[in-house]
Amino acid sequence: MSDTDFDIVCAKIDEEREYLNTVSQDIWTKPELQYKEFHAHAVLTAALTKYGFSVEKHYFMPTAFKGEYVSKRAGGATIAVLLEYDALPEIGHACGHNLIAESGLAAAIGIKTAMENDPKLAGKLVVFGTPAEEGGGGKIRLIELGAFEGVDAAMMVHPAKNTAASPNMLSIIRCHLEYKGKEAHAAAYPWEGKNALDAAVACYNNISLLRQQIKPACRIHGIITKGGVAPNIIPGDTKMELYVRAPTKGELKGLQKRVEACIKSAASATGCEASFLFDESNSYENLMTNKIMADIFTVYGERLGVDFDGDRKMDKQAGSTDMGNVSHTLPSIHPFFSITDKYTNHTKEFTEASGSPNAQEITLTMGKTMALTALKIMRNPEIQEEITKQFQRDLENDLKID
Ligand SMILES: [Zn+2]
Ligand SMILES: [Zn+2]
Repeated sequence: MSDTDFDIVCAKIDEEREYLNTVSQDIWTKPELQYKEFHAHAVLTAALTKYGFSVEKHYFMPTAFKGEYVSKRAGGATIAVLLEYDALPEIGHACGHNLIAESGLAAAIGIKTAMENDPKLAGKLVVFGTPAEEGGGGKIRLIELGAFEGVDAAMMVHPAKNTAASPNMLSIIRCHLEYKGKEAHAAAYPWEGKNALDAAVACYNNISLLRQQIKPACRIHGIITKGGVAPNIIPGDTKMELYVRAPTKGELKGLQKRVEACIKSAASATGCEASFLFDESNSYENLMTNKIMADIFTVYGERLGVDFDGDRKMDKQAGSTDMGNVSHTLPSIHPFFSITDKYTNHTKEFTEASGSPNAQEITLTMGKTMALTALKIMRNPEIQEEITKQFQRDLENDLKID
């Protein structure tokens, strides 16, 4: 990395600070739910156009987009920066995706300016607007549609409680479960019934017992969504929703089998029929942080004064993201940055934090760090090769059942 890149990126992002803040405020003020992010789509595509990117609006989906900048010199790596901008029902930008959009836009502007400044630098920058992270799996759809073909590395950052270059993001599979029993009068002829609520309760308790014997990083959680119709009817039909999460795909497969045993044994004990579906179509994969990319990111972040305290914590914050699926498709990073040390994502307090002026400095620092990471890869084809090799090793290891 030449110091010129460092100076150019920092100066450009600082110069645009006010405008970048306006963009994020604009998105924060009008929170939109998954696949309905029309205002954010308009704001962000206008911003990319303003900075001279070639922009494809409504890219495969109404609220997705793609911006591109190609160097004058042919060849080089293609690096993608991903933006998110969907909000949550009722509590608005409680996951701070307005800041993801802002930092991604900042990074894009920084990278483009450095590329323009050096005619010898070859590479391609792609900016993806990815809708519906909060459950809709926008990135999964984009992967299926081939959006990432030809891209060498992808990056985005996410606001959180901790700052971490390699956060813990788990593989998740959702299970829809139904028990069918037999209704009967609960007082007059209980022996004629088969109690589907007992099956659901037994399943819930089996899972609670199982939880004690699973690895600390795994998660199983669920609710009974239909528990019966009246106390004097033995419930003949109940429904549950379960989420199963693990740090790798291999571990998730193993855990899924154990949950299946909980489901089936509850059916067998109560004489009910269980029908269940582990929904593969919208399953978020664990985040496979590319270590080489994360190390570069950490070096630049630290140079800009960032403390990656979250990487040293034992009790890492764990969730799931559709960026996990991207990380199984091409080398990726998805670092966390702290905008509050008190509150966690998906709370009203986090919504406040993501709209507050206090979040601005770190959001822009993350944009600079992403830009410098991307430029380092573009300037060093041998690093890009190492990144690809690391990705292939990670993929193999991830499938091992533990
Ligand atoms: Zn979220
Ligand atoms: Zn989020």
